[in-house]
Amino acid sequence: MPGYFTEIFRLFFPERCAACGNVLPDGSYLLCPHCRWDMPLTGYCGVHDNPVYRKFGGLLPVAEASSWLFFVSHSRYRDMIHSFKYRGQWEISRKLGSLMGDALHESGLYDSVDAVVPVPLHSMRRLRRGYNQAEYLAEGIACGLGKPLCTGNVVRSRHNRSQASTRVRDERWDNVKNIFSVRHPEALDGRHILLVDDVLTTGATLISCAETILHACPSCRISVCTLAVSAHELFGRHSGGGL
Ligand SMILES: [Zn+2]
Repeated sequence: MPGYFTEIFRLFFPERCAACGNVLPDGSYLLCPHCRWDMPLTGYCGVHDNPVYRKFGGLLPVAEASSWLFFVSHSRYRDMIHSFKYRGQWEISRKLGSLMGDALHESGLYDSVDAVVPVPLHSMRRLRRGYNQAEYLAEGIACGLGKPLCTGNVVRSRHNRSQASTRVRDERWDNVKNIFSVRHPEALDGRHILLVDDVLTTGATLISCAETILHACPSCRISVCTLAVSAHELFGRHSGGGL
């Protein structure tokens, strides 16, 4: 009987592609076959020495680092990211996370990860938005990767301005200094943490969060991954757009 009602519901409210909005054909997950095939994938999830790893490598002792997609301005994939970042469609971030988690799992590079940790939002901003999209993304990644999700231990202890509204590069670094803390460092002792965020631009937020974890628990190993990366930040000013 539940299946019957689901069929009726889908008849009137068909599931739509998260990128182009067309009705999803049977058997598709989140994206229609065309948008799935056309995705601006980076190919970095299966490569240790990739441009995202090199970006972090100079600033932080990361074990692995990758981003799944290029963030492309004025594209349907940007709209898809904005739909969970700004328009309340958190379910999309969890489904994208599980697709990215599958890619990380297939690569084998993340096999030694012990826990998947989302970059936390301050409680006031979380309350206003109703959810933390990085948390849903991390939940999907943890599921695809087959690793436990760990939330609530690493917290954002200070409220800061949104990085998207902080246009000057140096201000972005100042804006995230000392904003995180670890409640129970002993729980992370000797663990390999995979730190997750949605879009990588300067990397200031991720680095500040990773530095806080490493300071509180020097025996940790840290890897980082984001759903998308701005090509503009990786390769220079003419190769992509901002948020
Ligand atoms: Zn589509």
